[in-house]
Amino acid sequence: MDSMNRKQFLALAALAGMAAPGCLEAKGSSRKVIVVGAGMAGLVAATRLKQAGMEVEILEAGNRVGGRMWTDTSLGMALDLGAAWVHGAGEKNPLTSLVKKLSIPVLETDADSLALYSDGEEISDELYEEIDENTEDLYSSGRNLKRRARLNDTMEEVLEEMPDDLSKTVRQGVRWNFASDVEIELSADARELSLKYWDEDYAFDGPEWLLKTGFVAVARHLAQGLMIRTNTTVSRIRKTANQVEVHTNAGQLQADFVVVTCSVGVLQSGAIRFEPGLSQERQEALSRIKMGTMKKIALSFPRAFWPSVHRMGDLRDGPTLEFWNLQPLTGKPALVALTQGAFARELERGHEKGAKEVAMEHLRSMFGKVPDPIGMIRTKWHSDPLFRGSYSIVASGSSIGDFETMAEQDDDRVFLAGEACNARYPGTLHGAYLSGVSVAKSILELV
Ligand SMILES: Cc1cc2nc3c(=O)[nH]c(=O)nc-3n(C[C@H](O)[C@H](O)[C@H](O)COP(=O)(O)OP(=O)(O)OC[C@H]3O[C@@H](n4cnc5c(N)ncnc54)[C@H](O)[C@@H]3O)c2cc1C
Repeated sequence: MDSMNRKQFLALAALAGMAAPGCLEAKGSSRKVIVVGAGMAGLVAATRLKQAGMEVEILEAGNRVGGRMWTDTSLGMALDLGAAWVHGAGEKNPLTSLVKKLSIPVLETDADSLALYSDGEEISDELYEEIDENTEDLYSSGRNLKRRARLNDTMEEVLEEMPDDLSKTVRQGVRWNFASDVEIELSADARELSLKYWDEDYAFDGPEWLLKTGFVAVARHLAQGLMIRTNTTVSRIRKTANQVEVHTNAGQLQADFVVVTCSVGVLQSGAIRFEPGLSQERQEALSRIKMGTMKKIALSFPRAFWPSVHRMGDLRDGPTLEFWNLQPLTGKPALVALTQGAFARELERGHEKGAKEVAMEHLRSMFGKVPDPIGMIRTKWHSDPLFRGSYSIVASGSSIGDFETMAEQDDDRVFLAGEACNARYPGTLHGAYLSGVSVAKSILELV
């Protein structure tokens, strides 16, 4: 471009409503919505807005739809690397009817179907009982502490309530339960998690479902009929007099409304520049919420060498791995180990062998001589610049009020949505779904 630089050309082209070379074609509707991100919240919001007659386009930086719904099939089975469970698959959960409508076969998991090992032997019934009683005692001391907790207090304080006189195995068992119920569940270490807001989110009643097809089936269904541009990274969102400019690696678009559904980690990284910036309240809330890290290490084997329970673990000091048996779900001899927080981030930084070796070391300690895995996948949500973690957590120093602030729409053209914009069900797929419904409603009220 000789006489005009590219920026000037883009500005002129936008004014004239024409498409510049390398610029996305902006369709001329006066009621256009651009949705940033093709995860659950973006897909649901776009569907609702389109159904209401608006022109909707989704811009997705990745090369696939689904975001944190991501099913891998490279091990010859459908494995969800991101969200896997419909938590509380009762009538009130919007995902329940969706899964039923799509006739997706499910496996109802049973957390009580558990085998814990110590020094290569499954622990006795008496030990299970003693561990469970002491775990309940620990949680009830924790609830007492929570009543008088301050904003910066962490869940580490609950662990400090563990009595000194427990036997080594019982102490390790209580620690394992705590890791599974709290730390892996919330994808963060006790020292990162708020004590004051522990268990303040809501949950739907109902069973826990894993989908035999993986969540890809849900993502694909939601994406049907929507205009989605993949490999399109949004870097700047600028409000002009009565439109919003969206700048991407593939050019610039204009819309009347923009919905940004990127994770808290992405928003915190400054990958998208907002002009003008987000409100002070939102920026402050955003700076206090944190992203957790959940890591999955999936291993397939020539044969199953473990019992036909749903979950398993080795009682030891140090980081916890919770193994889920994938055989009832996939029909294949495979396990997935879950771990979280600082250890998960450390494994992400290390070599692939690190994660495999850690998982195999636990399995050898539980079952003795075991065959080598024939396949492995491990996730890296924390180091992925499109996510920067697994899901938002109420970190010490933050509060449920911060999630309420994220959910409150305080602008009439630039909107936020996604799992962290739901104060009742943060960090979940159904929270992201409901946030998508809610943001669409907010926009439709304005038109
Ligand atoms: C390991 C793991 C396990 C989980 N397990 C469960 C579970 O079992 N059950 C459950 O209910 N929930 C679970 N979750 C949480 C659940 O997956 C999320 O809450 C939900 O998927 C978030 O959806 P979202 O639409 O808010 O965000 P996302 O899915 O993150 O969608 C945002 C999209 O924005 C895109 N994007 C990012 N930056 C840009 C940019 N600059 N320009 C354009 N696009 C961009 C991203 O690529 C992404 O596709 C899990 C998550 C992880 C990671």
